[in-house]
Amino acid sequence: MKAKPAPCAAPDPGLRRLEQKYEAIAEMTRPKCLGECPEPGACCQPRYCDLAEARARQFGVGLPPQAHPTLRFMGPAGCVVPPYLRPLCAVHVCEPHLLHGGPFAEAYFELREEVCELEEKLGPGWPEGLARHYWE
Ligand code: SF4
Repeated sequence: MKAKPAPCAAPDPGLRRLEQKYEAIAEMTRPKCLGECPEPGACCQPRYCDLAEARARQFGVGLPPQAHPTLRFMGPAGCVVPPYLRPLCAVHVCEPHLLHGGPFAEAYFELREEVCELEEKLGPGWPEGLARHYWE
């Protein structure tokens, strides 16, 4: 079962664009976490699932529980939470991928900055998410 779309997703082009950017950054970080990491998915923790659930609640979105023994939103093909509802998970990548620069780090920082700017444009009504203070 897929998550219901957010009730405020369609009418606001800024929000739709932000959702797309979150999807893009999640696509960028996922292969690092699930493909290249010696402990794939090790950074997932139940408390981050809690954060995703709380954020989804802010949007009136119900998340479908999965059968994973500890991560209730981890399905057989990966996390089922739309990236904009799990901002911390979507943008997370371990520091070794970023410390020495290179094409991945450059593209990551550029995209992350776009996410921050889009969130800031949505203004104070935007639920707390990937606020810039996470990173600075
Ligand atoms: S990526 Fe999904 S399964 Fe992993 S901690 Fe975040 S919400 Fe939970």
